[in-house]
Amino acid sequence: MSSSVALRLPSIDGLLRHPACVPLLERYGREALLSGLRQLLDELRADVLSGQLSAVEISPDVLAGRVGERLAQQQRSNVRRVFNLTGTVLHTNLGRALLPDEAIDAVQMAARYPLNLEFDLASGKRGDRDDLIEGLIRELTGAEAVTVVNNNAAAVLLTLNSLGARKEGIISRGELIEIGGAFRIPDIMARAGVRLHEVGTTNRTHARDYEAAISPRSGLIMRVHASNYSIEGFTARVPTAELAELAHRHGLPLLEDLGSGSLLDLTRWGLPAEPTVRQALLDGAEIVTFSGDKLLGGPQAGLIVGRRDLIAKIKKNPLKRALRVDKLTLAALEAVLGLYRDPDRLAERLPSLRLLTRPQAEILAQAERLLPALVQVIGEPWNVSAVKALGMIGSGSQPVARLPSAALCLRPQVSKRLRGRCLLNLEAALRNLPIPVLGRIDDDALWLDLRQLDDEPTWLAQLPQLQVES
Ligand SMILES: *Cc1c(COP(=O)(O)O)cnc(C)c1O
Repeated sequence: MSSSVALRLPSIDGLLRHPACVPLLERYGREALLSGLRQLLDELRADVLSGQLSAVEISPDVLAGRVGERLAQQQRSNVRRVFNLTGTVLHTNLGRALLPDEAIDAVQMAARYPLNLEFDLASGKRGDRDDLIEGLIRELTGAEAVTVVNNNAAAVLLTLNSLGARKEGIISRGELIEIGGAFRIPDIMARAGVRLHEVGTTNRTHARDYEAAISPRSGLIMRVHASNYSIEGFTARVPTAELAELAHRHGLPLLEDLGSGSLLDLTRWGLPAEPTVRQALLDGAEIVTFSGDKLLGGPQAGLIVGRRDLIAKIKKNPLKRALRVDKLTLAALEAVLGLYRDPDRLAERLPSLRLLTRPQAEILAQAERLLPALVQVIGEPWNVSAVKALGMIGSGSQPVARLPSAALCLRPQVSKRLRGRCLLNLEAALRNLPIPVLGRIDDDALWLDLRQLDDEPTWLAQLPQLQVES
C-alpha cells in the first residue's frame, strides 16, 4: 500500500485570495481570472487523482503562474505586426502598402473626432464623401470625376454593373485573367450582369476582332491590365488609343482596369514602367479603375475615375452604397494623394515608394552589418551569408520585373534528405518570435530580404529569443 496522502487541488476561493493571484485579478478582472482558474483546475483534476502531479506542481504560486500565461495569451491581439522579409514589397497577405505619417495622423483624427464626411461646410448642406478627394484626383489624373469603393475588385464590379448590365462586355481573351484570391474577370462580369463576349486569342488580339464583335447588344469594351502574368513572344495587343477610337466610333465606353494604377511615371525613380492613370485617360479610356493600396501606396480602396456623366451613373447604382468606403479610408487616401502634389519629395515621404527605391548597395551593407548578430544566435548547422538577391514589387505589379535587393541567406549544412525539414524548422522558429519574421524558402535556403527592414533595433533585440528545433 502506498503511504502517500492523496494530494488535493487548492480551492478556487483560496486561489482568488492568494497573493500570487492578486496582480492577475487587477490586470484581467475577476471574471477572466475565475474562468481561467476553473479551466486549469478542471484539466488538472484527473492527473491529481491518479497521482501524476507533485505538491509543488499544484501549489498556488505555480498555478497562478500558469493561469497568468494563459490570460496573457488570450489577451494578445490576433492582428499582429510582422517583419516582411519575403522580398515582396506590396504583399497582399501582409497588408500591402504601409501608410505615411501624414495618413496615420489623418486616420487618428478621423477616428477620434466627428468630421465633415458627408457635410458641406461651405453651404451647411449635406455633402458627398467622394467630394473630399475629387479635387486632388482631378489635379493628379486629369479625370473629370471620381468615386471610391472598398477595393479595386469592387470598383470593377460596380463599374461593369452600372454601365453594362444586360448587355455584352467585349474583352480580349488575353485579358480574361484571374487575380489572387478568386477574382476572375469572367466571374465578376457574370456577377455584374454583363454578358461576356470574348474576342481574339490568348496571345494576339487585333482591332478587327473587337470591330467584328460589336453589335446592338454591346454595352462596353473592357481592357484589363494583365497584372500577375505576362504574355511574351508572338503577341499583339491593340493600343488603348486605337481601341478608344474604335469604341467611340460605335458609341461604346471603354473601361480600363489598371490594377495597381500608378499616378506618376515610375521610371523617374528607376522602377519598371507602369501605365499611369493619366495616360490611360489621355488615350481615351472613359473610366479607369485601380487599387488604393498597390503602387499608389495608400489604404485599401478602389478608385473609379473618368467621365463625369458616367461616374454620376455609377454613383446612382444602389451597389455603390454597399461598397462605399469609410471615413478612415478617405482620411488616409486624401493624405496620401496630397503627397503626390510634391513628386520631388514623394520617395522620402511615401513608405512604399521609399522601400521600392532603396538602392541595392544600401541593402547589402545592411545585410553585412546584421550578419554577425544572426551568426551568433543561429549556430550549427547553418551557414549564413550576406548576398545580393532579387525581390519583387508584388500585388500583381510587374510580375516579371525583379528588384535588385540583398538578403541574409541561411543554408543548412546537412544531407539533402534533411534539408527540407531543417528549413521548415527555421521558418517556424522565425515565425514564433514575438514579432514574427517572415522570409522565403528558395533554392535549399531561407532568405531574409532586407529591403523592408526599417526597424533594425527591434529586429535585433528579439533575435536572442530564436529557438530552432533541430
Ligand atoms: C489587384 C487587381 C485587382 C483587384 O484589386 P483589389 O484592390 O485587390 O481588389 C483587379 N484588377 C487588376 C488588374 C488588379 O491588378
